[in-house]
Amino acid sequence: MTIHDCIVVGGGPAGLSAALVLARARRDVLVIDGNRPRNRATYMSHGFITRDGTPPMRLRELGREDLARYPNVTFQWGEVVAVAGGDGDFTVTVTGVRGGPSGEVRARKILLATGVQETLPAVPDLIGYYGSSIFSCVHCDGWERREQSLVVMGENPELVNTAKRASQWADQEIVLTNGSGVVEAAEAAVLGRRGIVVDDTPIVHLRGDHGTLSGVELADGRVIAATGGFVQPEWSLPQFVAELVPTAADLGGVKTDEYGRSGVPGVYAAGDVRGVTPSQLIIAAGEGARAATGLNNDLIFARFE
Ligand SMILES: Cc1cc2nc3c(=O)[nH]c(=O)nc-3n(C[C@H](O)[C@H](O)[C@H](O)COP(=O)(O)OP(=O)(O)OC[C@H]3O[C@@H](n4cnc5c(N)ncnc54)[C@H](O)[C@@H]3O)c2cc1C
Repeated sequence: MTIHDCIVVGGGPAGLSAALVLARARRDVLVIDGNRPRNRATYMSHGFITRDGTPPMRLRELGREDLARYPNVTFQWGEVVAVAGGDGDFTVTVTGVRGGPSGEVRARKILLATGVQETLPAVPDLIGYYGSSIFSCVHCDGWERREQSLVVMGENPELVNTAKRASQWADQEIVLTNGSGVVEAAEAAVLGRRGIVVDDTPIVHLRGDHGTLSGVELADGRVIAATGGFVQPEWSLPQFVAELVPTAADLGGVKTDEYGRSGVPGVYAAGDVRGVTPSQLIIAAGEGARAATGLNNDLIFARFE
């Protein structure tokens, strides 16, 4: 069986960018992608210079087209379920998706670019509006919601900071804790001084049509008019990642040095999987490029030892 120089797990901006740098470093690279990006909920991705407004799947397609020019890169649709072995000889178990092959593949190095899995707050109907009217990243999607009446919803203590950030774009803003009471009185007072009301009434229904929000119905019968909003999701790592490498306590991502080296020799990580904030496409791509240079340098310098 071929032993690739590197298997990149994840074909989002982090993984594709890493693969491009490795390809150009004459490495034999296999990219394996499960095709479940976090931003698949949305129609347009913003803030990636030269690609502002490009649909997320198109951005990835363009990345794969770049890679297709290099004969030393292979792309494969699949879900990695386990990584065994160690630095110099890893065995990766893959379950094929979209017609991709299942089985085992081997590599000297592993680069984790899986992103994170998102759990949305328990707001009824949210899934129907997430990515069209309601988002999680103000710097990604605030511009399209500028000067609108916005709701900031969630049950996570980070809600207060999301509310503060959203104020840069909102004309009017209300914070809905969905009955969680997660915003303390002192914090509610701080927001109140900027005209942002915090309401603890549970949410029963989001009103709107085909993903276009018009209002939020509360348990006491009131309807808050709103055309968009932000939520604070919880993030988690794919199970095989959490089992493979040490994670950082604070943000829950894979712990690495500045060149993406994880606590396990031969395993690198880049992009959202590191729990980095802000979590953005261009930052993930930059991280992928940097981890790839770290990985390639390690392979080069090992030759001189
Ligand atoms: C609704 C929404 C809108 C957003 N809008 C923007 C925006 O406009 N601008 C912006 O800059 N950012 C935006 N973001 C954030 C952006 O999507 C992420 O920061 C970025 O995609 C992270 O890139 P990544 O390569 O680290 O991970 P991802 O893009 O999530 O890619 C990870 C890939 O790894 C694959 N994968 C996961 N586990 C496995 C496995 N076990 N085996 C194989 N493959 C696996 C996944 O299927 C996925 O394809 C948005 C996010 C969301 C949720």
